[in-house]
Amino acid sequence: MEKSTDKMEKIVSLAKRRGFVFQGSEIYGGFVGAFDYGPYGVELAQNIKSAWWQAMVNREKDIVGLDSAIVTHPRVWEASGHVGGFSDPLVECKDCNTRSRADHLLEAIEVFADEKMTVEEINGVFDENRSKLKCPQCGKQNFGSVRQFNLLAQTNLGNFSEDWTKEPTYLRGETCQGIYINFKNVLDSTRVKVPFGIAQIGKAFRNEIAPRQYIFRKREFEQMEMQMFVAPEAEMEVYEVWKEKRMQYYLDLGFKAENLRWHEHENLVFYAKAAFDIEYNFPFGFKEMEGVHARGDYDLSQHQKFSGVSMEYLDPYTNEKYVPHVVETSVGVDRTFLAVMTEFYDEDELGGETRVVMRFPKKLAPIKVAVFPLLKNKPQLVAKAEEVFALLSAEMRAEFDDNGNVGKRYRRQDEIGTPHCVTIDFETLGQEKPELADTVTVRNRDTGEQERVAITELVGYLSAN
Ligand code: ATP
Repeated sequence: MEKSTDKMEKIVSLAKRRGFVFQGSEIYGGFVGAFDYGPYGVELAQNIKSAWWQAMVNREKDIVGLDSAIVTHPRVWEASGHVGGFSDPLVECKDCNTRSRADHLLEAIEVFADEKMTVEEINGVFDENRSKLKCPQCGKQNFGSVRQFNLLAQTNLGNFSEDWTKEPTYLRGETCQGIYINFKNVLDSTRVKVPFGIAQIGKAFRNEIAPRQYIFRKREFEQMEMQMFVAPEAEMEVYEVWKEKRMQYYLDLGFKAENLRWHEHENLVFYAKAAFDIEYNFPFGFKEMEGVHARGDYDLSQHQKFSGVSMEYLDPYTNEKYVPHVVETSVGVDRTFLAVMTEFYDEDELGGETRVVMRFPKKLAPIKVAVFPLLKNKPQLVAKAEEVFALLSAEMRAEFDDNGNVGKRYRRQDEIGTPHCVTIDFETLGQEKPELADTVTVRNRDTGEQERVAITELVGYLSAN
């Protein structure tokens, strides 16, 4: 059996070699917790976001979209509880100064702890287990005491005072606060009525103590969040519906059921009614990919309290007045990206050779079709291939490639997961067999099989297969 670290290394290496993911600020030695998506990565991330938007907005008659600002009025983060309580338990090694998450060190020895515990509680658990805990960097057992470290990143955007840290603004720690503060705007400007949802995709920032596991835990990352606003008595019913929909979403994308599982939060925050995570079987084990939460009326009530603006909804049918409750689904683009790379990475044997192939579903594949002239130094072949590229690129994301021999080009396209390659050869030009004029070879990524298809039928063929 393949070791998990091997799979991770293979994915990281392929992602760099083939232009999916680069280390952030690489030429300056890197910048911890930041990564850049390369030419194929940006396409894959875009397709992940489109698939989510399609499922959550286009196909849901009661959900609308939003794109709120990253930097908000600082009171937003006081109301949300982030200024006071959005922290992780940090512990520092006194020998090498490496900072670690105390809950993660404990989790590794199968002792439960999480960020919702008080600092006294977690210090108690940590102290009980000190003899079993080692610094992941130097291996010593010389930790200080656990303290809470706030994850909100501050900025001086719009603040010109010398000591701006006294009155900081914040880079948003999650996208959903932008949804809550626009609840009234959306309600007043569109046709929606409770129950309805607002969906948003955007960057979020957290001063993660120990960003690790590649793009799984970054300091700048992207979230896809949907908040459903519901009547108090409907909350749990709607919650169950969304739990089911979100799991089905991954199955529909092509994930294997055995690589997904539910994890119930052991420790609920006081206002939450229910919280489950969808965990994916990453190369380093099952870990959270998405959270599905029933949050009561906490979010809107807090903003009502801090802003002084009423968040009450008057039900036009029952005349009942209430602050809507929230059912939330929240998933990271980057974690989905890593899950997709893990799920669809494959190695097989084709034509007597081992190959690496990303078996992305067509919907997610960065490039849908690659177009090759058989030889790059034959102007007639190149001209015809350019014609075919123009035809296909008007319909789908296509790539033109005339580098190296065709076998090499196939291997490259397999590694970036392109479902079809189209080769323009001498037969296309009608030089050898006139009956094959204006037909091309279409090669299937998964089977390696080739078919002859007329150029006039190519778009239909590629869409259907
Ligand atoms: P974790 O326990 O792993 O820190 P979380 O419970 O704090 O995650 P949420 O606040 O529920 O995460 O955020 C919702 C989603 O946003 C997560 O399920 C994850 O997909 C994504 N996410 C959160 N933090 C990060 C991060 N640092 N890097 C990448 N994605 C993240």
